[in-house]
Amino acid sequence: MHFDKAIRSQLPYNEVMEFTTLCYREAAMSEKRTYDFQRQIETYDRADIVVIGGGPAGTAAAISAARRGKKVILLEKSGQLGGMGTLGNVSIFMPIGNVTGIYREMIAEVLAEYLPEHHDTSIAPQYSPFELRYYLNEKMKKEGVEVIYHTEFVGTVKDGARLEAVIASTREGLKAFEAKQFIDCTGDGRVALDAGVPHTSGRIEDGLTQPMTLMFMMQNTGKPVTPILPESCYYYEKVSDLPQGRHLFWERNKDGQLLVNMTRVKGNGAKIKDINYAETEALRQVFSIVHYLQRNGFETYALSHVANQVGVRETNQIQGLYTLTEQDVVEGRRFQDVVAQTNYEIDIHSPDGKKTTDERKVSGYDIPYRCMVPEEVENLLVAGRSISATHVAMSSMRVQPTCYALGQAAGIAATIALDDACVIRDVSIDALHEGLREMNVVFHKLASYS
Ligand SMILES: Cc1cc2nc3c(=O)[nH]c(=O)nc-3n(C[C@H](O)[C@H](O)[C@H](O)COP(=O)(O)OP(=O)(O)OC[C@H]3O[C@@H](n4cnc5c(N)ncnc54)[C@H](O)[C@@H]3O)c2cc1C
Repeated sequence: MHFDKAIRSQLPYNEVMEFTTLCYREAAMSEKRTYDFQRQIETYDRADIVVIGGGPAGTAAAISAARRGKKVILLEKSGQLGGMGTLGNVSIFMPIGNVTGIYREMIAEVLAEYLPEHHDTSIAPQYSPFELRYYLNEKMKKEGVEVIYHTEFVGTVKDGARLEAVIASTREGLKAFEAKQFIDCTGDGRVALDAGVPHTSGRIEDGLTQPMTLMFMMQNTGKPVTPILPESCYYYEKVSDLPQGRHLFWERNKDGQLLVNMTRVKGNGAKIKDINYAETEALRQVFSIVHYLQRNGFETYALSHVANQVGVRETNQIQGLYTLTEQDVVEGRRFQDVVAQTNYEIDIHSPDGKKTTDERKVSGYDIPYRCMVPEEVENLLVAGRSISATHVAMSSMRVQPTCYALGQAAGIAATIALDDACVIRDVSIDALHEGLREMNVVFHKLASYS
């Protein structure tokens, strides 16, 4: 801000001081200084493998590594496991045509009524995010994974091309966690980016990512409820007024619980300004949509739960040894180093503020191990939605069952790198496939890989 002498001379002394301070503060804000920030940070704990992020990918990675006899620490920035599936209240497992491995086990243990006889079946169960959260806590104890909640990764410590430790902000301040192998399951590729792995974000043409959505639930109370529209909310008259211009809700179970995915806020969830705007705008949309639904067919439903945070579909993709493309997805490509298989559709909520969604059915394809392997770091894998994939390809691979599958493979691969004392990119694919088989992962069409 320009400090104007003429304005200053017209102001009384105390206002001059306030004005001067304001000008200096604004000048300092716009200056963008950089700081060196050095600390001696104590090691809190060390493990064979440290997994960062406890969503679908991170929980599966931790389980599979621990099952192979390794000491595993899982760092999670919130107070719960499950990632978008619980924190974001996603509450549906989308169909991928392959109910296998740890994902299949979970279905058997918490949603047995949905368990298909054969793995190559599509199921789309609606689950309770509260029960899944509880289940994952207990599962980690049974599997011998040490989960450290409220611990947010902030930086890497490297020795050449290897990670030695990650620094995290804990309830006791900054602490180091040392390991021989690391698996980044933050969904944003936070560890990889900090370690110098190149990344992309959003569409090639303009970098725009899929919009964010704050999920919520309504409960059928069995009697009429009075619709309330808080101040500053929107009055939606018809379907085309709604943020997505459509209805998108599910009531799959018989407990009167309606799961609503109807808010939409443009922006990139890895950007401070975008997520700040999304958290408030999306909540305004929640109350506005509830008011609309209570006047249009859901007269007996009350708002029963709003997700703890806005749901983020897409942020950063690492550049790995191989980048999954739209062509791979559309043509149903098969890869010799397959680690996950899915036939979930291309599903792009419009990134540019339009009320449209690009949905295209696909017949099924493989995701290769190389999509999780960054070239620059020898002992780091990236699993989950931030693997190396283009904007269109990630719109299909991003759903939870696929992220569980990728996490499971990453956990096994990290243990092989440890046992064989090799760098992560040299992990034997035969050994990886053998490890997956031992954990009941089944692929179809394996014989046709070229
Ligand atoms: C609105 C919405 C609706 C969706 N609908 C469906 C659906 O119906 N069915 C479906 O199967 N999928 C759906 N998805 C997609 C799916 O939920 C996600 O793509 C999936 O959860 C990604 O899994 P992940 O493990 O890669 O990452 P996430 O689920 O994002 O988990 C990442 C975890 O890492 C933690 N973390 C992040 N940064 C740090 C850090 N610095 N330090 C420590 N921990 C950190 C987070 O707290 C979180 O627990 C939806 C997504 C959204 C947003």
